[in-house]
Amino acid sequence: MDRPAGFSGPFVRQRRIRAGPNAVSDADLSRCVHCGLCLQHCPTYTETGLETESPRGRLYLIKAIAEGRIEATPTAVGHLDLCLQCRNCEAVCPSGVPYGRIMEGARAEVLANGRTPLAWRLRTLFLREVIARPGRMAALAACLRLYRASGLRWLAERVPYVRDRVVLAPTVSGPTFPPKAGVLGRPQDKARGRVALLTGCIMPHAFGRVHEATVRVLARNGFEVVAPPGQLCCGALHTHSGDRPTARALARRNVDAFVEANADAIVVNSAGCGSTMKEYGELLADDPEYADKAERLAGLVKDVTELLAGLPLEPPSGRVEALVTYQDPCHLAHAQRISSAPRYLLSAIPGLRLVEMARPDRCCGGAGVYSLAHRDMSLDLLDGKIQDVAATGATMIATANPGCMAQLEAGLRRYRLPGRVVHVVELLDEAYGRSPDGV
Ligand code: SF4
Ligand code: SF4
Repeated sequence: MDRPAGFSGPFVRQRRIRAGPNAVSDADLSRCVHCGLCLQHCPTYTETGLETESPRGRLYLIKAIAEGRIEATPTAVGHLDLCLQCRNCEAVCPSGVPYGRIMEGARAEVLANGRTPLAWRLRTLFLREVIARPGRMAALAACLRLYRASGLRWLAERVPYVRDRVVLAPTVSGPTFPPKAGVLGRPQDKARGRVALLTGCIMPHAFGRVHEATVRVLARNGFEVVAPPGQLCCGALHTHSGDRPTARALARRNVDAFVEANADAIVVNSAGCGSTMKEYGELLADDPEYADKAERLAGLVKDVTELLAGLPLEPPSGRVEALVTYQDPCHLAHAQRISSAPRYLLSAIPGLRLVEMARPDRCCGGAGVYSLAHRDMSLDLLDGKIQDVAATGATMIATANPGCMAQLEAGLRRYRLPGRVVHVVELLDEAYGRSPDGV
């Protein structure tokens, strides 16, 4: 068994090196051969030009801290925190460095050793005490809905000094969907099976319309769709923030809920959530009660585009006359390595013309709560993304992740650009006959 490096020495003041799946392992770290091929694919490196903000630099830093050669000073920890966890570096690395796993383990150690910056600890508290709790999440969504409906958002975004400070704040509109757990949709004719939908934490409130479109499209393609009761937030944001205990608690609850649902597949329409659920086996690997169940469940998880593209798709009869560009969500393209499925679905829609933007798989700067924690970097990345979108002449941006949708919508508002941001399944839904403004 490989000896886990963990974090020892001055980093944690002689804290014992931990074994198990949560530690950063020597084997993972030593796969980096320092070739630098990942550098030009790293958004924080290309924005700053700094080695310390590159994948190679961060891996070097993590290894040096783990071996006790340098201290985990606030500056060093800041370099880890500025990483988007977009995993673009992982996707292009010829040595197969599991960067996502390494960074998640490193952040878990940073958080556990108690020397985490205050902003990081407050963020973790918010994720644990609000995002992970459906009642509090619903209350927050109600406040955000009011913020938008009252016109306050409109006003704030027109004051130059205030605009940059509020434009990335999430906004909520439309009804919450699903209103309750249970059967959401039934196949219209031939039955292909039964799927369970992950409803998620903010998605039902901020993008209930995407859930509705997902249910209709799946039913149209022969699936019964259920929302298992008892499911909670998938834990993706907690894992990325280093809060493994909360992520694991949420994963256990979801394993119980989805095993009980006894579905043929678990469908996820949020790329970040799907990526985390596909890694539940790793997250719960040292839990004797849940390890096997989590591994089996992870094998059932499918992104909605992945599931649909693998079918003989029910051909849409309606047309969507639009020039559309597609933004690859990082956790779909890089973490799940799915990029052709959404494009295939878009190409199946009559009338729709797909035009590729430059660097469609470069992070838009959303990255979960990153846009709130690192506003300047997030805005820089968003500005570049909106320029790439504008150069295509597209009037619609399709993507497959709520975080990207919110960020891109903010980008359009920031530049007062017309156009819509949609999930791929919404366009399919429209092609199946659903009016874009209807419910
Ligand atoms: S992470 Fe991979 S691509 Fe990047 S420097 Fe290391 S080996 Fe090379
Ligand atoms: S995850 Fe993204 S931001 Fe972080 S080092 Fe890799 S490419 Fe750069």
